[in-house]
Amino acid sequence: MALGMAAGTATGTAAGSYSAPASSSYELRFDSGRICLDLLATTHPEERLDAVEPLRAWISGSGLVPAGTALGAADASWLVGFRELRGHVGQLVRGEPSRDSRRFGIALARVNELACAAPTPAPRAVWDDGGSLVRALDGDPSCAALLAAVARDAVELLTDPVARASIRECEGDNCPIVYLDTSRGRRRRWCSSETCGNRERVARHRRRAALARA
Ligand SMILES: [Zn+2]
Repeated sequence: MALGMAAGTATGTAAGSYSAPASSSYELRFDSGRICLDLLATTHPEERLDAVEPLRAWISGSGLVPAGTALGAADASWLVGFRELRGHVGQLVRGEPSRDSRRFGIALARVNELACAAPTPAPRAVWDDGGSLVRALDGDPSCAALLAAVARDAVELLTDPVARASIRECEGDNCPIVYLDTSRGRRRRWCSSETCGNRERVARHRRRAALARA
């Protein structure tokens, strides 16, 4: 039990590059190396996409839309859509792809369908009040457009042999996070050295201390 609680607390400190104050309390993580894998991470250590506001925070934090994009159309149907896509992506990236697997086939068909269902949000460069060029969308993005962007990321990942070979599942206890290992020598073992890596180091230290006492 204590481990689980520690995991939840530690995750919050490792929110990666995400720093929007309104949303940091959701403890979202964006350190998997791919948007479609970041979406998978929203199940850990518990369901993050359980309300519209955290979903908005995830969409903003993931970089799917330029900073400051209003997501006014987001509602409960968006939650259903993102969670459905998340389930299919998980099916596709965990384990080997197989032509013979019915579940893999269903997930693949659905991700392909979502990837082509709408044009992805296309940012333009516009002047902000301070005279800098910033990215902005033409209008509020639709759910279909955002799902298409995540689904295309999954399509690109699945069809890129180098990236595919770099997919790893964290070695941490009970940590299901899947990430892209782009480290030198491909020896990254943890979803995050601050959370799972640190927990392993602490456990190793305790084991050594216990041995020394024995
Ligand atoms: Zn982990």
